[in-house]
Order: sequence, then structure tokens, then C-alpha cells
Amino acid sequence: MGELDGKVAIVTGSGRGIGRAIALALASKGADVVVNVSKSVEEMNRVVKEIKDLGRKAIGIVADVSRMSEAEKLIKETIGSLGKVDILVNNAGIARPAMCYKITEEEWSSVINVNLTGTLNCIRAVAPHMIERRTGKIINIASIAGRDGMIGNINYAASKAGIFGLTKTAAKELARYGITVNAVAPGFIETAMTEWLKEPKFQEKYIPRIPLGRIGKPEEVAALVVFLASDKSNYITGEIIALDGGLVMI
Ligand code: NAD
Repeated sequence: MGELDGKVAIVTGSGRGIGRAIALALASKGADVVVNVSKSVEEMNRVVKEIKDLGRKAIGIVADVSRMSEAEKLIKETIGSLGKVDILVNNAGIARPAMCYKITEEEWSSVINVNLTGTLNCIRAVAPHMIERRTGKIINIASIAGRDGMIGNINYAASKAGIFGLTKTAAKELARYGITVNAVAPGFIETAMTEWLKEPKFQEKYIPRIPLGRIGKPEEVAALVVFLASDKSNYITGEIIALDGGLVMI
């Protein structure tokens, strides 16, 4: 018996990286999982197969979460295929590095639209269903960039700081319906998004700032998400939990 047996989870942006690790971890604890991407159908199908190989149900849904109508489609198709949504993990995110004094309108809005508006869109779309069922777990993937700021990532840091406020507010609004809303704020995690960190000059710059002395793994983020998706965390809501090896950003 897994602690998530009988649960249905949606993980946005789960074709690779942290989202994929979360989807697989939830499935390994017994959940049926919806794998979502905006474009990369091949990656999505691969993760769907990996979940089915674990003996769980899995479906792939292509939807760009930055658009309200597509977020609504994601929730509607999940309920149509799997009957309900118990767990929503808002993981989809992009980075478009830019300094505050050089950023273009498009660099700003594209990151805000996916990371922040995309998170709101999915919460907006799933909340009526969770309210009706008087149960639900919503977990948002933020970043320590939202807590500390991050040079060259003004749009990304602002979008993640926005997720802090969104998480705390949605937690207050939905608590009376038995729904918890929390966020995980990872530090540097080994994925395609942090490929640049492999360069020696960045290793030299950032590793000394991490007391645990290493970059984190997607599976370590996934383990915390499983906890927040399980009944073990029923009395936690509105929290932003850092998972950063003790990172001190400049
Ligand atoms: P990644 O680039 O490997 O994966 C991002 C996923 O999101 C991809 O599957 C992509 O297809 C999907 N996606 C992008 N735009 C989308 C959209 N509009 N709709 C639906 N899906 C979309 O990145 P990752 O490192 O795995 O990051 C996952 C999350 O974790 C992001 O929110 C990111 O900001 C956050 N995060 C990452 C790190 C890190 O160090 N890697 C640190 C802190 C927070």
C-alpha cells in the first residue's frame, strides 16, 4: 500500500527535470498522474510510459498553462479521464535571464505569464472542483530567487516572489474547504534549466555559497512534494519551504 493510493495528481511541466521526478515519485507512492507539457510531446509520452511501468494510470495532456483556457482544459480532461483531482503540482516554469536595466517587454511578460499567471490559472481552474469535494492539496514550485533575488533574473525572481503571495493568499481562501496550499522553494537543482552551472566558473562562484557543498537533485524536491501531497502534512498550509542546501545568495 502506498500513502497516495487512489489519489489523482496533475503535475504541470512534467516532461523532464523536477516535474518528471515529482510525477514519478507521486506514482511510486500510488497516485495516478497526469503528465503535462506545453510543447514537448515526446518527453511527455516517455514519462507517461515510465509511470505506467510503475503500475499506475497515467495520461499526457498538452496544455500551455499560461493561458487560462488551456489550464481549464487540463483540469476538465483530467476529471473526464480519471474522475477527479486530489493533488495539483504547479511546476511548469521558464527562465529568460535578463538584467532590470536591459530586459525587454517580451522577456518580462513571457516569464511572468508562465511562472506566475500559469500557477494562478491552474489554481483558478481546479479550485471549484476541490471546493465541491472539500479536499485537495496544491503545491507550487517557487524558488529561493523569489526570497533572495537573483542577479540577471529580475523577471524570474519577481515571478517566484509572486508565487509566495499567491500561495499564502490561496491558502487562506481555501482552508475553510479542507484544501491546503503550500510552496517549495528550491535552490540550485540539477536540470536542463541549470545546465550553465556545470561551467567551472559558475561552480567556483556558487558551490562555496551552499553549506551542504553541492547542487540538489530533482528527486530531493520530489520527496518534499510527496510529503506535502500526503495526509502527513494535513496541518500545514500557506508555507513556503526552502530546499536549498543552506544556500546564501548574493
Ligand atoms: P525544465 O526546464 O527542465 O522543465 C520545465 C518544464 O516545464 C518542461 O517540461 C517544460 O516543457 C514545461 N513548461 C514550460 N512552459 C510551460 C507551459 N507554458 N505550460 C506547461 N508546461 C510548460 O526546468 P526544471 O529545472 O525542471 O524546473 C521546474 C520548476 O522548478 C520550474 O518552475 C523552475 O522555475 C523551478 N525551479 C528550478 C530550479 C533549478 O535549479 N532547476 C530551482 C528553483 C526552482
